[in-house]
Amino acid sequence: MASLNASSAQLVVDLLALAREGSEWVGELAVAQMSRLVEQLAVDNTGELLDAELMMPFRLQGLCRRGEPGEYAVRIETRADVHLCCQRCLEVLPFSLRLDKSLRLAPAGKLFSQARLEALEAEGAEVLPLNGPVVPAELVENEVLLGLPVYPRHENCSVPDYKQAEQGGEVPGPTTSPFKVALSTLRLDH
Ligand SMILES: [Zn+2]
Repeated sequence: MASLNASSAQLVVDLLALAREGSEWVGELAVAQMSRLVEQLAVDNTGELLDAELMMPFRLQGLCRRGEPGEYAVRIETRADVHLCCQRCLEVLPFSLRLDKSLRLAPAGKLFSQARLEALEAEGAEVLPLNGPVVPAELVENEVLLGLPVYPRHENCSVPDYKQAEQGGEVPGPTTSPFKVALSTLRLDH
């Protein structure tokens, strides 16, 4: 198992070779070193990252689709239970990240025909342009970021959704709203 850590995070992998050989690359990434991901994660009240010790295992599997030459892809798999920040109440939101997707490889210099590109698009295939070997840590982090919710929030958040309230929908509101608490505090002051 190739393990990526601080000293080897810059290892590169030739995805085309991986696909041609049908081989795979497995490793582990320290979440704390994924700086763009860290920006999305929750901290405790001392500012310490909750997932500071978390390791993210991943697998890159080279695929040669139906044995056709030039039809190369990479399957990216990773999983991690991270802690996001709910955008409504700003409390911690546990999130189970389960990533399993394939990207078609588009090596530089090998131009797809317009028809081919349209066919790929119709298949819903995502294309990964290649200019040489890639850094697995960067590739995995890119895909992880795309796999996070755009607007993370609790399913039953303790802060009422004003949109739902306006539409007369059911609001699983707290028994004491922050506004009521604030009002009663004001009264005590007088
Ligand atoms: Zn929330």
